Amino acid sequence: MNDLRALTDLLESLDGRSYGAYKQIKGTWMGPGFALIIDHVQPDPFATPSLVCLRVARETHGIPAELWSNRARKKGLLDYLLRVFAGAVEACPGVGSGRSCEIFVDAGGAEILERSAADIGENYLSLRFRVGMPARGRTVLGKAAARLMGEVLPQALNAVYWSNLPHSVAREWAYLTEDHAHLQDQLKESGLVAFVADGSILPRESGVSARPLANAVPFASPAGLRVTLETLHHGPVSGMGLPAGVTVISGGGFHGKTTLLEAIELGVYPHVPDDGREWVVTRSDAVKLRSEDGRAVTGVYLTPFIHDLPLGADTEFFTTADASGSTSLAAAIMEALEVGAGAILIDEDTAATNMLVRDARMQRLVERETIVPLIDHARELYERAGVSTILVTGGSGDYLDVADLVLLLEEYRVMDATERARAIVAELPLSRTGEPAAPARPRDRYPLAASFDARRRGREKVSVRGLRELVFGGQAVNTDGLEQLVSPSQLRAVGALLKRARRYADGRTSLCRLMDKLEEDVDTNGLYALEASPELARPRRFELAAVINRLRKLRLRQPSAALKNDE
Ligand code: ADP
Ligand code: MG
Repeated sequence: MNDLRALTDLLESLDGRSYGAYKQIKGTWMGPGFALIIDHVQPDPFATPSLVCLRVARETHGIPAELWSNRARKKGLLDYLLRVFAGAVEACPGVGSGRSCEIFVDAGGAEILERSAADIGENYLSLRFRVGMPARGRTVLGKAAARLMGEVLPQALNAVYWSNLPHSVAREWAYLTEDHAHLQDQLKESGLVAFVADGSILPRESGVSARPLANAVPFASPAGLRVTLETLHHGPVSGMGLPAGVTVISGGGFHGKTTLLEAIELGVYPHVPDDGREWVVTRSDAVKLRSEDGRAVTGVYLTPFIHDLPLGADTEFFTTADASGSTSLAAAIMEALEVGAGAILIDEDTAATNMLVRDARMQRLVERETIVPLIDHARELYERAGVSTILVTGGSGDYLDVADLVLLLEEYRVMDATERARAIVAELPLSRTGEPAAPARPRDRYPLAASFDARRRGREKVSVRGLRELVFGGQAVNTDGLEQLVSPSQLRAVGALLKRARRYADGRTSLCRLMDKLEEDVDTNGLYALEASPELARPRRFELAAVINRLRKLRLRQPSAALKNDE
């Protein structure tokens, strides 16, 4: 193995050569206490930048093992180290054309995520990132490259050594992440779906900024719902415990209903210190659902919600290339249940009204209704399957009949209005009748391997456009509706997992089981083993399944065969 000095000498000697000469720098170069590993060299200055890993021996970084002794702590610590490293390379002065001298470290955001960019274990800390090897036109800038590799990177690396880190901050990231996981575990035991601590700041600066809104009204729990949970590192925390069951969040327009639900939705992830939502914790199997007209639906058992469609369309195995607002929501509910959702979160702002409710007068007028709305399933879902519903609605009082808990928001303050709702229900009884329906019990579907073929003209092609779109092979999958997807890196990982799914999808493995297998894969081997990319972040199974469900080329084993197999 050569030392770093040999690399910088080599780079200087390449000065003025054509870009292809950079190929020679591939390999491992030893610096003091660390290895600089160049795994892939870009072919030209405009291509995806080169893949570099800094691997630091434990004696060198000195980070106490206690901070990465379990999964959650490790996730928090590494998320923090990546941010520190990204900050340290940020100021790197660049020269040259194209992506010359640019250093890309995948870090940041309001949520703490497991990323392929970092790993730590008994022997090493590894940081993976991309570097644009400097050039003018197609000519190697050898001196700049030597400075980048020989000075800039080693110096930035210093920032993550324990001797240079702010210890209390590093600890806080690890402990906060662990406490989030710890509270998530407690939710299940305490029969809660979500917890929102008193004093939390829920609203964000704007639709495009995740920073906490200045001068926001801090969250305060209504006395009847107040619970105190024990943390491992932060003492007891008090706040609102949302019990399992059917919850309606109501209130006038602009009084903060959507903001509360959005905070709960993202409470499935730990948040960074000072985010305001550090202590908003939601069960990991809570899934936000919405209407998405135009999406594809493939082979979903939709009959509990929709039946007797005109022209005899099949709702037992419902397929469409262009779903409506209501069918897309019904499909989303069944799909989420199929892969194990334990709570569904819906906001009237983004849900087709006719899928939520049909009032008494409409029941009289429209006799040939094809839709059984959620209101007729919510109780059944909870009582039979233990699946909770949290619904935001300021519009439909019919839900007061089926709710276990009614929250009322007034000027961003939450009140428990369940008693009042009961009184109103007694005073103004409904003439609405419950509509008979099959229980919303999903049927397993069995994807075929062909669904996960990303090849175009012989090469696998997968790319993402921000958070909004995954292009898999020739198909563009719109992901606007996946509100719990928080990072484009998660979507990149979804792309990699889709490719991996090809191995397991044999037409006898259900979609739900496929999700188990892919999760086990990542648990055992990590994200980087999926694909040698430093820009992957771990998605949840629900977002992964949601992307699969939106593939226009999703191919399933035919239902008759699948049913036989179930028996
Ligand atoms: P709703 O869904 O009830 O119509 P939203 O949740 O959309 O209301 O909130 C309306 C506005 O109030 C948003 O601009 C939001 O940022 C702001 N807001 C929400 N909660 C708070 C709060 N606790 N303090 C200050 N502003 C808030
Ligand atoms: Mg709203």
